[in-house]
Amino acid sequence: MDYRVDQKGFYGQFGGAYIPEMLYPNVRELEERYLGLIESEAFRDEFTSLLKDYAGRPSPLYLASRLSEHYGTNIYLKREDLNHTGSHKINNTIGQIIMARHLGKKRIIAETGAGQHGVATATVCALYGLECVVYMGALDVSRQAPNVKKMKMLGAKVVPVHSGNKTLKDATNEAIRDWINKPVNTYYIIGSVVGPHPYPDMVTRFQSVISKEMRTQLAEKTGRETPDYIIACVGGGSNAAGAYYHYLDDKSVRLVSAEAAGLGVESGSTAATLILGTPGIIHGSKTLLMQDRDGQIQEPYSISAGLDYPGVGPLHAWLARSGRAEVLTATDEEALRAALLLTRKEGIIPALESAHALAVLEKLSFKKDEVVVVNLSGRGDKDMETYIAYLDI
Ligand SMILES: *Cc1c(COP(=O)(O)O)cnc(C)c1O
Repeated sequence: MDYRVDQKGFYGQFGGAYIPEMLYPNVRELEERYLGLIESEAFRDEFTSLLKDYAGRPSPLYLASRLSEHYGTNIYLKREDLNHTGSHKINNTIGQIIMARHLGKKRIIAETGAGQHGVATATVCALYGLECVVYMGALDVSRQAPNVKKMKMLGAKVVPVHSGNKTLKDATNEAIRDWINKPVNTYYIIGSVVGPHPYPDMVTRFQSVISKEMRTQLAEKTGRETPDYIIACVGGGSNAAGAYYHYLDDKSVRLVSAEAAGLGVESGSTAATLILGTPGIIHGSKTLLMQDRDGQIQEPYSISAGLDYPGVGPLHAWLARSGRAEVLTATDEEALRAALLLTRKEGIIPALESAHALAVLEKLSFKKDEVVVVNLSGRGDKDMETYIAYLDI
């Protein structure tokens, strides 16, 4: 089975580029040039050196001893929380800003939900001195004031979107509309492994630095490059895609995708797209999405703003449907408890998204000598208000 994108931009039946005609030239240009650029020496040098000196890579692979003892196995945390701006998102925005520059684009647009991708995009635009416009649902603008202020301080223009439910899906629609109106000079930095081909593959390649480092670090620490499990949370799926990439063909490695169940998979308030989703087209890609019988998108819900997207990257739809990845879910409550457990056992406050990956540790049974890697996608600073409101602290 092939888990990488094919010539036409598909992963099995999922993927492709379902876009309005006005965007053909942009998407075509990107498709024709992205692989050549990524593999060129100039691009690679710039990317590698910024990952190292600006983002702070390699991120450590940390043996969490007290957490390991709790679960009776060997748990390693891939510390994406230690990157500049606090999550894995910077890996992708650094890659894409270099791409934009090599394509000669001077104006950057992005969509954002909770604001993490918006901040990571505004950051690299400041770094390169490029104009930056971030679309954000009006509801998210009011809920995520600190990130809105950060983006503004970084010099970005934040445009509140008042259509639909005023959240991520609506912000994405508006970013696509902007792109259609100003296609010549504008580069759209998408924040996850979603959107039309070649975005899912391009973003996966930028994030694949995670599993590349993991191989070397595991070899140093355990004597072998392959773990028994890799566990990651899946919203759109970029941190998981990066953590899986160099192990996709290695069937001895169990890939576990943790989705947000919200109040429960069957509750009607959930973001468990891989479990509940049916094939459909969203934001330029054929994938699994939560929709009703008439094809109306159902609003996702999770306590974690980074996981409540109604679709999922086509790679993950394929990994789940082909059986390569196992999909487990964690409710709001399970994630909150897992966040507190990590904090008390290791002195690390995780992002709420990452807490969903930690929460599924409860649902697996490990052997004593097995090696388990959890991708700790981000840090919990942004979630302190939620933790204070829900945890007895
Ligand atoms: C945005 C975000 C996610 C979800 O995005 P993916 O594309 O699924 O990785 C997960 N964790 C953190 C910390 C995030 O900021």
